Amino acid sequence: MTEIVLDNLGKSFGDFTALKDMNLTIAQGEFVALLGPSGCGKSTTMNMIAGMLEPSEGQIRFDGKPMNGMPMARRGVGFVFQNYAIFTHMTVRENLAYGLKAQGVSRAETQRRVGEIAQLLQLTDLLDRRAAGLSVNILQRLAIGRSAVVEPSIFLLDEPLSNVDAAFRAVMRQELKSLQRQFKQTMVYVTHDQLEAMTMADRIAVMDHGKLLQVGTPIEVYNHPADTFVARFIGAPGMNLLDGRITGGDSGPVVDLGAAGHSGPVTAPGTGPVIFGFRPEEVHPDPNGPIQMAITMVERIGARIILHLAEGPHVAKAVLDAETQVPDQGGMIRFSVPAASVRLFDAQTERAL
Ligand code: ATP
Repeated sequence: MTEIVLDNLGKSFGDFTALKDMNLTIAQGEFVALLGPSGCGKSTTMNMIAGMLEPSEGQIRFDGKPMNGMPMARRGVGFVFQNYAIFTHMTVRENLAYGLKAQGVSRAETQRRVGEIAQLLQLTDLLDRRAAGLSVNILQRLAIGRSAVVEPSIFLLDEPLSNVDAAFRAVMRQELKSLQRQFKQTMVYVTHDQLEAMTMADRIAVMDHGKLLQVGTPIEVYNHPADTFVARFIGAPGMNLLDGRITGGDSGPVVDLGAAGHSGPVTAPGTGPVIFGFRPEEVHPDPNGPIQMAITMVERIGARIILHLAEGPHVAKAVLDAETQVPDQGGMIRFSVPAASVRLFDAQTERAL
């Protein structure tokens, strides 16, 4: 277990700045997900932690020790990539034992650890199979096992599940979490999939365009996004964001949404333009609700209904229980949003107010 400190970390490639002013402390044994869209600088950050890239600015420290210039082999990190690098001519057992052999671990200890990791990752029945010919799902599981078995104090995973199928991904999310609970490594996990980050991480670091936008627990970033980017990126569907204007209502300030009506009373710092945010799950159909929008599409997916809504310049989504009575496509719906669920953002900076 190691504490990782990223201190004003930055990386440029020629004129292009891939990462700027990254400040993040990852506690011993913590599972942190670096989450953001393609090109936001996640892998660049990860490669610098691993020692495959040198920072242009700032410092990386492991347990207080500066790591800049330290070769990868001496950092004690295990790294799993999107493209598993497995020795296909070897058996599953030989692949799992490879790193331990290289470290000179005894035969009995190797056998014990390989057995343990194989069981954890459901590879026991495949131990004597050659890796060539195994499915992509199994190969990725093996790649994770091969890195985990040497028990690195830091475990880095860069989109390890992006090549595996959806059903298997759900299983692997559980297994990676139990792997970390068992070995208590400090884990850094790169993903563009908010569901992976939300379900596995202790804390999520949301990034965009080479910048760290917010760090928090999954529930913090879901409930209190620091800006509209995080609000949209976290949650499926993401937060609804409607341009409005704070005006004085009969019982205090409300957000005027033009043709769509207005919000209930809000706590607002003043009047003027604002972005009105609410989660699709917080739409409460109500014949007397102050907001009205047209239904442009009705998606019924098992236990839930997703309504696509539009009115004037506004678009939004609502997630409702399957039993909710809703008008058909083309109809109108009135609804309210509980005051506690309203999130307001500055119209200019798009930061949370
Ligand atoms: P992805 O999931 O697509 O890999 P990412 O968030 O991991 O996205 P990075 O791989 O860190 O993004 O890349 C960040 C930016 O830096 C991208 O615009 C990328 O094109 C650029 N970049 C990365 N490596 C280099 C390099 N060696 N030379 C020039 N530009 C690079």
